[in-house]
Amino acid sequence: MKLTILGCSGSVPAPGKPASGYLITVDNDESVVMDLGPGTLAALQAIQNPADAHVVFSHLHADHCTDFPSLMVWRRFHPDAASYGRDLCFGPVDTPIHLGRLSSNEPGGVDDMSDTFAFAPWVDGQTEILGRVTITPYRVLHPIEAYALRVREPATGKVITYSGDSAYTPNLVTAARGADLLFAEACWGPSGEGMAPGMHMSGADAGRVAREAGVGHLVLIHIQPWADVEATLAAARSEFDGQISVGEPGQVYAL
Ligand SMILES: [Zn+2]
Ligand SMILES: [Zn+2]
Repeated sequence: MKLTILGCSGSVPAPGKPASGYLITVDNDESVVMDLGPGTLAALQAIQNPADAHVVFSHLHADHCTDFPSLMVWRRFHPDAASYGRDLCFGPVDTPIHLGRLSSNEPGGVDDMSDTFAFAPWVDGQTEILGRVTITPYRVLHPIEAYALRVREPATGKVITYSGDSAYTPNLVTAARGADLLFAEACWGPSGEGMAPGMHMSGADAGRVAREAGVGHLVLIHIQPWADVEATLAAARSEFDGQISVGEPGQVYAL
């Protein structure tokens, strides 16, 4: 199993750094895209035909989903690389309406995605099969319906957990329990002091999740462009003494 970071800039894209999007592949078989924030569709094009992928969403904030209407154009109208069938789409229950509005020709209209995607909503803790991997969503702590995603390759037992956006919550630890790789948001940078509760983690919070879950390798993601990256990394190190990296677009993690 391989994860490629399409983009991991926090809350907004930055120059050369798309917002949130992660590509999961196994032996060039069916791939899965987790989130499709601004700039990630271009990054995906550089790697593979964007129409050859299942798409899942951690939640529906703009920095995680707004390249989806462009993907719909590609899947329907590309002259020789359009989708030839329906791929799977999982996300919060409002995904078809929320994203359908972005693609609609009419204000208030909803574009029906069912010609090109078979959608089903996440059910907290219920494992879904997507090609060569399974994904189990865990409800996490954010102002809207949001999930951490535990991705497992049954053939090897390897696990990658993606936090999505979340404040610290025990459910994140459950989602990351024993994972080989944890991609954890550290949106607040070094410290969450004075920040709104119930939204995001600091580097220290991400390190705490990694320690409590006993993960093999922590990758800090979703750091806002104005945050101090080195101080965020140091805050994570104060909580977790295992391997820690800072995510960058284009990085590939192979298990
Ligand atoms: Zn976000
Ligand atoms: Zn969010």
